[in-house]
Amino acid sequence: MGQSLPVSKPAEPLWLAEEDQVGDSPNWIIAEYIDARIAQLEQARQLPRPSDVPKGAVTFMDTLKIVIADDEPIIRLDLKKTLENMGHQVVGEAGDGARAVEIARQLKPDVVILDIKMPELDGIDAAKIITTEGISPVLLLTAYSQKDLVDRAKDAGVFAYMVKPFKESDLLPAIEIAISRYEEFMDLESEVTDLENKLETRKAVDRAKGILMDQYGLKEQEAFRRIQVQSMNTRKSMREIAEAIILAHSV
Ligand SMILES: [Mg+2]
Repeated sequence: MGQSLPVSKPAEPLWLAEEDQVGDSPNWIIAEYIDARIAQLEQARQLPRPSDVPKGAVTFMDTLKIVIADDEPIIRLDLKKTLENMGHQVVGEAGDGARAVEIARQLKPDVVILDIKMPELDGIDAAKIITTEGISPVLLLTAYSQKDLVDRAKDAGVFAYMVKPFKESDLLPAIEIAISRYEEFMDLESEVTDLENKLETRKAVDRAKGILMDQYGLKEQEAFRRIQVQSMNTRKSMREIAEAIILAHSV
């Protein structure tokens, strides 16, 4: 992913530590950057229209482990045969959404293919659980292309769907899109979480520094150094130390 911040790297080692890309950027730049990333995350949630699926873009060399779920045994059989003919492995099958979730949790496949209309739990609700838990990407199968279904799928974090009856040639590109968009989404999500943590750390350390400066008449550097030393001595993060200082001060 690596879109870095539009600031130059400082020569001095950073109090924020590690080789993070936040550098010594002011908080507002980091906050703006996080907002931009969140906007990208939102965009990543947009479902492709079926016409966006590139035809015949076969790039997967590996055998994929796939779980399939459809309440119609004939469709399941057809899907399984098609996938196996393509060299993939159908590691689990389910006739309803609840069972599909159970199997997916157990087997952690490369991709889960879910019919939308299924008993117990429908494909969209099952997809929501599977993607929220970070188990696998999901490809939805639908006999319908109604807008409300597509909208629900989007909210569930599903990145690709196929309209039944599917053509064999559509299957691989659709799987490919489901997997690549899921990976992109997970990367973005962990990057945003990471940045938000860093920003919170920085805010806490700034506040704690201010408190120490006021209380002990320290210079900023000294106050910072004190937090840093305490962090090293106690093997607690700078954020934990800073939060402790803030808490103690507020009592
Ligand atoms: Mg069905």
